[in-house]
Amino acid sequence: MRALRAGSRLLERRQAIRGSLERGVFDVVVIGGGIVGLSTAWQAARSGLRVAVIDAGDFAGATSSASTKLVHGGLRYLAMGDVRLVYENHAERRALGDKLAPHLVQSMPFLVPLYEGGPHGRVKIGAGMLVYSALSRFEDGPGRLVSSKKAADLVPALKTEGLRGCGQYVDHQMNDSRVALMVAHAAADSGAVLANYLEVVGLREVAGRIVGVEVKDRLEGSEYGVDARVVVNAAGPWVDRIRAMEDPAAAPSVRLSKGAHIVVRQHQRWQAALTIPLDAGRVSFAIPWEDQLLLGTTDQPYEGDPGAVACTDADVRQILDEASRAVEPEQLAAQDIRYRFAGLRVLPLGDGDTQHAKRETVVTHGPRGMISVAGGKWTTFRRIGYEVLQRVHELLPAVEIDTDDAVLPGAAHPDLVARVLRASYPDLPDDVVAHLARHYGTYAHELAGLIAADPALARRIHPDGPDVWAQVVYAATDEWAFDSDDVVRRRTTVEVRGLATAEIRADIAKVLASTPARARADVPRPRRRRRVRRSQERQL
Ligand SMILES: Cc1cc2nc3c(=O)[nH]c(=O)nc-3n(C[C@H](O)[C@H](O)[C@H](O)COP(=O)(O)OP(=O)(O)OC[C@H]3O[C@@H](n4cnc5c(N)ncnc54)[C@H](O)[C@@H]3O)c2cc1C
Repeated sequence: MRALRAGSRLLERRQAIRGSLERGVFDVVVIGGGIVGLSTAWQAARSGLRVAVIDAGDFAGATSSASTKLVHGGLRYLAMGDVRLVYENHAERRALGDKLAPHLVQSMPFLVPLYEGGPHGRVKIGAGMLVYSALSRFEDGPGRLVSSKKAADLVPALKTEGLRGCGQYVDHQMNDSRVALMVAHAAADSGAVLANYLEVVGLREVAGRIVGVEVKDRLEGSEYGVDARVVVNAAGPWVDRIRAMEDPAAAPSVRLSKGAHIVVRQHQRWQAALTIPLDAGRVSFAIPWEDQLLLGTTDQPYEGDPGAVACTDADVRQILDEASRAVEPEQLAAQDIRYRFAGLRVLPLGDGDTQHAKRETVVTHGPRGMISVAGGKWTTFRRIGYEVLQRVHELLPAVEIDTDDAVLPGAAHPDLVARVLRASYPDLPDDVVAHLARHYGTYAHELAGLIAADPALARRIHPDGPDVWAQVVYAATDEWAFDSDDVVRRRTTVEVRGLATAEIRADIAKVLASTPARARADVPRPRRRRRVRRSQERQL
């Protein structure tokens, strides 16, 4: 725990959060501000419920920023024969990329290299690509086989020895931390109270029902309670620890598997990603991401403390070894590693190995009324939020559920945002403009507004990256950042590019300590006027 100085802006912000949380009874308190908790909070708040979401660390600080960053149909589900799931995931992927979050979720061609003696033949992969794209109604064109020459043009570091062509298909990718942040904005815009660095240490119970949570502020140490009509446990890998607070005899509901990734410097620009078959069921990815190359992932059963999960040297060796089946060794040099991370998949209980387990969402009702939800895919976060809301609805029947598609805050095509930014702020370099447009959408104009008021904020945080100091100020005023780690890892891309020096971290900490939050970050934002629901429109 950090001692916050009296008079520090950070202390003022903690006090504002406490004031909001102690005001009255919430309809729903969500434990866990990963994507599942944030999505649940967003859906519940825009359905008219008074919601708080509480995270022991930073929003998306655990699994939700440790993913492969794919918004995808799920090629492995096709191999498992789950055609319906692939169809549904594709629909969600396209909805996000085309309409709901085009600023954050971008399409990406993928190649499946087929080597002599490899686990898959050309006919099987050719047919698989076609079916995969058919399940997306060919909206990205038909999946197909491409020649080794064409594949090497798209991926300059592709190993071509023994290559017999590649399958080609389309999925989407994202910066998972930034998407989670935009969902946090969406929840806050709908009136939810969001609190990070607040650990749930117990549950409040009256007459055998859970009626709130006991929390401990991890930054300034105070303990207090938050009252709620319904408590949702969305604590990801910690889900069973929270269930044990409700029922100490509760049997485990899930098992965990670790997945690690590394980010390496990209030598030449790739125009496609690689899905590298390792055996009949497993693949490893090599994906251009944030101007670097993202490699991974591993899949190992995990039984330790979820907070201690880390990418080890053995994981790094495994990831590089698996990538080397399709990537030239010069692109895989150990000195080019910029960042490494690991996260935990939450899987349904079962006997089989974790690599072949379905990534299903597990929802349970506890004996004292708590709803627990864990697992599933990032890709389907909106659907998971709706599903939990349906369960809340069973406990609070008066609530109407708003299932209309809502766009994520800042939604607009990034090229259009960039065009306006360029016209309004011609001095901003092109890479900075493109970076802001792709990570903030129309909210980039708020950052540009900060720069207009203080041109020093256009300075790059590190000369080799596109992040600028306006993002740090915005992280403090509008995006719940309390620690330099929040900024370098999840609000910006400084750390994933390997640019977070000690000096930069110290300077960011100074900005955070001296910048007051705008009222909108730490206390409920004014609820926007509710739209007429489609069902009501039809009745009119
Ligand atoms: C290696 C890996 C790769 C993946 N790749 C993809 C992918 O490419 N595409 C895809 O669609 N899906 C992917 N997934 C799945 C996806 O990342 C997860 O389904 C999703 O992030 C789970 O989010 P969550 O909110 O349930 O969990 P988390 O993000 O872990 O959130 C749980 C939160 O609960 C908080 N918490 C815990 N205890 C307490 C407490 N006592 N009080 C308050 N808060 C508490 C934690 O601090 C944490 O922030 C991947 C998963 C892994 C592990």
